[in-house]
Amino acid sequence: MSPQRPSLPLLGFAAYSGTGKTTLLEALIPKLTNAGLRLGVLKHAHHDFDVDIPGKDSYRLRKAGASQMLIASRNRHVMMTETPDAEAEFNYLLSRFDCEKLDIILVEGCKNIAFPKVELHRNELNKPWLYPNDKNIIAIAADEVVESELPQLNINDLDAIAQFVVDYAKCFGTEKPASGSCDTLSPAFLSVEQGRQAILERVQTLTDIETTELPNAYNRVLARDITSPVNVPSYRNSAMDGFAIRSDDLNREHYQVVAEIMAGDSYANVVEHGQAVKIMTGAALPEGADTVIMREQASVTGETVTFGSATIKAGQNVRQAGEDLSIGQNVFSIGQRLSSPEIGMLASLGMNHAPVYRKLKVAIFSTGNEVQAPGTPASESHIFDSNRYTLMGLLAHLGCETIDLGIIEDDEQSMVNALNNASQSADVVLTSGGVSVGDADFIKSALESLGTIEFWRINMRPGRPLAFGKINNTPIFGLPGNPVAVMVSFINFVEPALRKMQGEVNWNPLKVPAVATEDLRSRQGRTEFTRGIYSFNERGQLIVKSTGKQGSGILRSMSEANCLIEISPAVDTVKVGESVTIIPLQGRI
Ligand code: AMP
Ligand code: MG
Repeated sequence: MSPQRPSLPLLGFAAYSGTGKTTLLEALIPKLTNAGLRLGVLKHAHHDFDVDIPGKDSYRLRKAGASQMLIASRNRHVMMTETPDAEAEFNYLLSRFDCEKLDIILVEGCKNIAFPKVELHRNELNKPWLYPNDKNIIAIAADEVVESELPQLNINDLDAIAQFVVDYAKCFGTEKPASGSCDTLSPAFLSVEQGRQAILERVQTLTDIETTELPNAYNRVLARDITSPVNVPSYRNSAMDGFAIRSDDLNREHYQVVAEIMAGDSYANVVEHGQAVKIMTGAALPEGADTVIMREQASVTGETVTFGSATIKAGQNVRQAGEDLSIGQNVFSIGQRLSSPEIGMLASLGMNHAPVYRKLKVAIFSTGNEVQAPGTPASESHIFDSNRYTLMGLLAHLGCETIDLGIIEDDEQSMVNALNNASQSADVVLTSGGVSVGDADFIKSALESLGTIEFWRINMRPGRPLAFGKINNTPIFGLPGNPVAVMVSFINFVEPALRKMQGEVNWNPLKVPAVATEDLRSRQGRTEFTRGIYSFNERGQLIVKSTGKQGSGILRSMSEANCLIEISPAVDTVKVGESVTIIPLQGRI
């Protein structure tokens, strides 16, 4: 069976010999790599070509009878495969590329095979046009203009041709691959922000509202505006332990202490000129009195009190009724996540219930035949499932209810059953693994048979592959398999979506600038999320370094990190002393 073609943009250059295909490609490639594309090139050559050099070890071993010869060194490796019986198939050859590390494959030659191509044409060669008879030609690069609906480029304008290829790669998977812009729904490449926006547009806030008792309201999201049913404070009271007097009676030498008011007590009479009442913090100010002198400034002799040299301002040390909030004033708006101060404030208004959105139910499962549940004896060639547990923590943190569906083997029917079941019991489904190019088949075909699915490649590391789909109306996230990629994808895409579904509004992740204390590697064209450790230096400056090794399988890097360092696509390498953006992880994971 012929292997499936990788779901990577593929673009050929078709021309008669003498047009200068290789020369053009050689000049084009630096422009494409500068634009951030990682290129694979497939070149079809004459049947007796050889890359090996007679006399070299590899040549001798191959000629001695090795039908596959892999020669490897620090900088490159080459696999030479002898195919004496038949030429290898085009799709098979494409499957030899490590598509995870490529953005596009350019093909030179292979003119009889169907795939998108640009026709190169030079007038002086006097050769016939290919495009009228080849519907695989999607654009023309020539030194004359012809009558055709196809996009036409000047064969000598390499920048225009490069731009065409970049756009083509970006728009891969959309309906009009050759158009200049691609804000359609399933482009091959998305920036982190485009991915996040695309997801946010596709998820909706829950509509079910319930009333929860205040002790259970922590981390829930308000489903209604809250206006104050009372004044806070509800009565005028003392802000100090001390003595209350009238403000039109400030400069007297002695005052007669007529009563003592504890918090919760009240005094039925009016405080007259010459009188003072001893009062405790929070106690209601009696009528007549409007000024409090603190106890430390008072000296009491028997039933009289004097305030010595203390300067007294009319109205001092008194909290007015409604000073914090007055009746009918807006306290919280719909979409507010309730944390400790909010719950405390609701209680302070006399409320013991809150109107909230119901809890979001999130189903999770891991995929992969190599993945085994922790707590079972370790079998050979297996790894323990960490992703489900990481996700459980992340979901608990957001106050979601988790439905754990375990590990699903790489098998289409099991996947169909799991997805079907998950989409019926949950509001959102999260899976991990099986979405990289090449191994997406099970989830892909399962989702295609049940609902819709889009496979995205986000220009980021870690976490490049991301699948997003829907079964009925339930959003499904197909997260990458690598443990760090799962977390980074969750933080960037799942968390904002879950917060929206939970009803939260105005949430934005905290991002702050910090100074790099070491060079940080990145690559132009993609967002790099390096695991970082921030701290303050002796000058009080926020500084950051990486946790070290950044492999996307090294979960310890997430545990050691207290932030993600977000290096934008425009940046290649961050040098010591340069400013970078950090995303603190405290409160997120
Ligand atoms: P995949 O995308 O399925 O090829 O997975 C990428 C990598 O992540 C592979 O090395 C997997 O073994 C690993 N992986 C996948 N799922 C899990 C999991 N649940 N826990 C830990 N590692 C996983
Ligand atoms: Mg897998």
